[in-house]
Amino acid sequence: MTRKNDHIKIENTSTGGYRMFCDYCGRDHLIVPPIPMDMFLAIGRQFTKGHRNCRPQPKELK
Ligand SMILES: [Zn+2]
Repeated sequence: MTRKNDHIKIENTSTGGYRMFCDYCGRDHLIVPPIPMDMFLAIGRQFTKGHRNCRPQPKELK
């Protein structure tokens, strides 16, 4: 079963930060720690909300 928000991901950056990104539209948001946990979660929630309804983009539009 595929979950609705599986295209919204987070990874480590080479500089030790975090990068939230959307597999569909390719937009991302960088987080440079340390930040308050509440803020981290709030940013994650907001990013997820903004990309929940994204659809896969044709490659040539990127
Ligand atoms: Zn997106």
